[in-house]
Amino acid sequence: MSSSVRKSREKTEARLSLASGLTILPGIGARRADLLGKMGIDTIGDLLLHAPRRYIDRSAFSRIADLKVNSTQTVVGRVVRVETKLAKQKHLTIAHLDDASSRLACIWFNQPYLARTLKVGTIYVVSGSVSLSRFGPTMFHPEYEPYGDELLHTGRLVPVYPVRPGISQKQMRKLTKIALDRFGSLVKDLVPNSIRRKLNLPGLDRALYEVHYPASPSDAEQARRRLAFDEVLLLQTIFAISRAQRQVKRQARQHDLGIARMTTFLPFTLTSSQQRALELIIEDLRGNFPMRRLLLGDVGCGKTVVASLAAAWVCLNGGQVALMCPTEILAEQHLEALSRYLFPFGISVALLTGSMMAEERQTVKKALATGKIKAVVGTHALLGESIDFHDLRLVVVDEEQRFGVIQRSKLIEKRPEADLLVLTATPIPRTMALAVYDDLDVTLIDEKPPGGGNHTTRVVSERERSRVIDEIVARIKAGEQGFFICPALEEGSYGLRNVRNVAAEMGKLIGKDALGILTGQTQRDTRAEVLERFASGKIRLIVATSVIEVGMDIESATFLVVDQAERFGLSQLHQMRGRVARGNKDSVPYFVVSDSASEIGRQRVKILETTSDGFEVAECDLALRGPGDLIGKRQHGIPDLRFARLPDDTDLMLVAKEEAFTRILGGDSSEEWRLWTEAVREYVKGNIVIV
Ligand code: ADP
Ligand code: MG
Repeated sequence: MSSSVRKSREKTEARLSLASGLTILPGIGARRADLLGKMGIDTIGDLLLHAPRRYIDRSAFSRIADLKVNSTQTVVGRVVRVETKLAKQKHLTIAHLDDASSRLACIWFNQPYLARTLKVGTIYVVSGSVSLSRFGPTMFHPEYEPYGDELLHTGRLVPVYPVRPGISQKQMRKLTKIALDRFGSLVKDLVPNSIRRKLNLPGLDRALYEVHYPASPSDAEQARRRLAFDEVLLLQTIFAISRAQRQVKRQARQHDLGIARMTTFLPFTLTSSQQRALELIIEDLRGNFPMRRLLLGDVGCGKTVVASLAAAWVCLNGGQVALMCPTEILAEQHLEALSRYLFPFGISVALLTGSMMAEERQTVKKALATGKIKAVVGTHALLGESIDFHDLRLVVVDEEQRFGVIQRSKLIEKRPEADLLVLTATPIPRTMALAVYDDLDVTLIDEKPPGGGNHTTRVVSERERSRVIDEIVARIKAGEQGFFICPALEEGSYGLRNVRNVAAEMGKLIGKDALGILTGQTQRDTRAEVLERFASGKIRLIVATSVIEVGMDIESATFLVVDQAERFGLSQLHQMRGRVARGNKDSVPYFVVSDSASEIGRQRVKILETTSDGFEVAECDLALRGPGDLIGKRQHGIPDLRFARLPDDTDLMLVAKEEAFTRILGGDSSEEWRLWTEAVREYVKGNIVIV
């Protein structure tokens, strides 16, 4: 067998094994696999990468004679006697250990099988908190395992994993150990050696082993950094590939429409921020290289207008435009806005969403293929299906956090010449920008349109909730409208206020007819009806889950109540209140914080009373919550960062960036780099590779 054939076969084996389901491991049946699946562990690869949250140091052994009461210690001793007792309706198992210095009693309640497990004469390691009983030094419910070459639960730095009820730490350790023993060495280390050596990082199999079972805290940290580097190199390689795609040279688009002409039909004048952004975008649209631009600006700063005018420019020059949104509600709202702005130019806009009838969808698709339709607004359905465009030139993606770099790069890969404009209201703290948006040019709109009401955000405690309700009932009676947001949809999540109950509660106060319900599950027709009746003033209050968080534009709303506000992210709350300062009226967002919220949780929400600047809010969020939540896949659609910590690992990020960009843009043709980029492309396609 030639070495390259062998290599590729080994690689296939490694991939197969890493992607295999957990049931191939001994002791894992369908039920256990299911439980693990709920923790996001579906494959052997997931298991290997299930990072311990921390380690307990049980590496130092003590002599029984030296044990100190009330401290957690580890002891090796021979089982000299095992007795079982019934006391106060509890079953007791008592094992006496002897280590030649003295004796230790180990006591377990209600685990009668232990009497059979702990055989007299065998040597055990036990670890636990020491107390004094009538037997002398005693440990209640210690960790225990037979003394041997490879200790997992005692006598070492012991990993503590995130687990769920039904899976114990001990089981989790056994699983990671088996996975490591069986598959650890099959894992193919794809990070080029030359890069790894520069950073002095351990090889992948060693890092995987040591992140679970390190010999010392510094080994654990080195292992973590190695795995963190894989993640950031993956991320930066995706960015670099995306950057390389935009180097495609295309025919410059010469036709021109002056900005003055473009804005004649607007009912207002653009702010100078909007004007500058539009100029930059049009310059990009005309240029030789495809645009990859992020338009960043707080809720209500007027991004939609700018994107609409860019769309008009493209359509008037004969191209097509697609605008994509994370939810159907948003798609419908954008359809309305875009239609309004494009109508004066004689351009009509179509809608394409997953809940449309197949036939209807087919008609739209056909018209997109022939070029009859110039502009289309849709949801992921647009991304998911392969749609034929006659001449798609501009893709606008709204509310970035729901899409993310991978979808973006998939979309553009098919049409490298197209221009891409991403709109986001989630202000990214500058410290994070490097990780999240490195492949885009960033334009900031830092000015609010004139007019627009003011907020007076009020953060109140649970006790004041009924007063808040009195207030909004009074407001509704005075002709105002607003939203009531709950963290859950219906009963079931313990301790969470839900839409069903709140709707019933409010219905009694203001009448059922004055109330509408909106959730992620509301059918399209119902939703349209609710929004319409809200706009016409028939519905005075919409009770909703956080579906209204992004981009919804309802000018008549003047108040907002968020129940259990501590359950939401700060930026999320900031976006929600952005929904109710749209018109010229002043508005009040009320954030109700539960009594059970932590002090930090309460302080966090309080910040919203002191600032209305989205960037400041994001920076505070980062300072209080740490970057994990901010940068998590959920918010930004970037590869999971399970091991990398930002900003702590910024040095790794910088090296990864430097390497990825120089190698991709400089055309590194080495075998090791080819293998790595191949793996990254696989990852983007959704296949399991390394991290
Ligand atoms: P964003 O998408 O950034 O949250 P929108 O584009 O939806 O903001 O704009 C918010 C509101 O402000 C809309 O009702 C819009 O009509 C209005 N608006 C936008 N630009 C201006 C402007 N320059 N002057 C006055 N009103 C504006
Ligand atoms: Mg918007």
